Amino acid sequence: MAHQWRGVIREYAERLPVTEATTVITLGEGGTPLVHAQKLSELTGSQVYLKVEGMNPTGSFKDRGMTMAMTAAVEAGAKAVVCASTGNTSASAAAYATAAGLKCAVLVPEGKISMGKLSQAIAHGATLLQVDGNFDNCLDIARKLGDSYPVFLVNSVNPARIQGQKTGAFEVVDALGDAPDIHVLPVGNAGNISAYWKGYKEYSAPYESATAGTLAAVSTKTPAMWGFQAAGAAPFVAGHPITEPDTIATAIRIGNPASWDTAIAARDESGGLIEAVTDEEILDAHRWLSSKEGVFVEPGSAAGVAGLIKKHAAGEVPTGKTIVITVTGHGLKDPQWALRTADGSEVQPVKVPNDVVTVATELGLDAR
Ligand SMILES: *Cc1c(COP(=O)(O)O)cnc(C)c1O
Repeated sequence: MAHQWRGVIREYAERLPVTEATTVITLGEGGTPLVHAQKLSELTGSQVYLKVEGMNPTGSFKDRGMTMAMTAAVEAGAKAVVCASTGNTSASAAAYATAAGLKCAVLVPEGKISMGKLSQAIAHGATLLQVDGNFDNCLDIARKLGDSYPVFLVNSVNPARIQGQKTGAFEVVDALGDAPDIHVLPVGNAGNISAYWKGYKEYSAPYESATAGTLAAVSTKTPAMWGFQAAGAAPFVAGHPITEPDTIATAIRIGNPASWDTAIAARDESGGLIEAVTDEEILDAHRWLSSKEGVFVEPGSAAGVAGLIKKHAAGEVPTGKTIVITVTGHGLKDPQWALRTADGSEVQPVKVPNDVVTVATELGLDAR
């Protein structure tokens, strides 16, 4: 019988802080495709794969953490959850809160959220407040609400989120048979790079299972973690928080990452790096993915690909390796970027009359 994917908690229950008795809040997240990127592989001379996280229920990797956070909220007896968001966390929190029967409040920075993400939070019935401030200000308020009011915080400062997100690394190893040599991803609040590193470390070590005794290590190695930030929002590159982060890649428009220490540890323990790419490089990579690989992502998601292309151009990508890039969110979240050409002009559809000969001429076709 065909196996129905049960969501990351049930698939990886053995390695998550849950029991058989836990009431799991899931929308079937995880189990996302690992797509061989043919053109990036040709470019670099390594085998490059894309972990396509836009295929999650709400269109981003945030669902992996949200299933855990919402499950923890229900376990704690919460009646309402709150989060700060650049967009995708709010979309995910709103959907999972609905599944859990909880109220959801989301704080978003004024004017910097894509329509797709806003509409998701609204559609799922969240109370959405636009704060006159940036993401970092929103997170500050959300944390204080969680501390002093009867609401449960579901941002990635909640350790349950990181636990859920580490399953991305498990899936990569399970698909490839071992860890890749390099894992590339965008860095914003830095929860995801921390979570992947946690997942890779856990899979490379023997494991004391609660039910099955000692399990052998699943992978023989861990990858170098390569994180990329947007140049206008690159606190790890600067070495200090940025007060006015600015980039078109709204998902990573964060100046004061909450998971600062764990991201630095991921970079250093793995022998990796965190560098910056410009908005133009991000948009070029966004276009590369859609036009050469057939994978449509939102701009922030393309930062890892932009980074790999940049490092390759600098002669700093080894050949003959296995490289995985997490592309974090779906292109339909923020579709207007596809309608902009490399020179910045708007793409307009060609208008034709209702006539086959004109249409054929316009397509450059000669009659058989
Ligand atoms: C949240 C998000 C990021 C950044 O992830 P962090 O864990 O905050 O570093 C990148 N891309 C997309 C699409 C996101 O939603």
